[in-house]
Amino acid sequence: MGRRGSLYRLPVSTIVEFRGTFRLVEADVDRLRRLSKGTWFCRCGELAVVEHDSPRCDICSAGGDCGLDCSVSRLSCTKCGATA
Ligand SMILES: [Zn+2]
Ligand SMILES: [Zn+2]
Repeated sequence: MGRRGSLYRLPVSTIVEFRGTFRLVEADVDRLRRLSKGTWFCRCGELAVVEHDSPRCDICSAGGDCGLDCSVSRLSCTKCGATA
């Protein structure tokens, strides 16, 4: 199918978490609005394939927000094959 154009650029973003070669990047706008937990990118720049199979942490399972993407069980990259 089509190639992704340039890397998706977040206007103002913050790296909030690292896992192996992957980083979770969150737009500050989303962070303020709590719209999302951000987007995982591989070291090579490709969007990571994310699986959410882990139980949430104590904070989140109690209805809070720990600020991390704590339910991520596995990250993988279709481009370079990295996993975390
Ligand atoms: Zn959590
Ligand atoms: Zn990669």
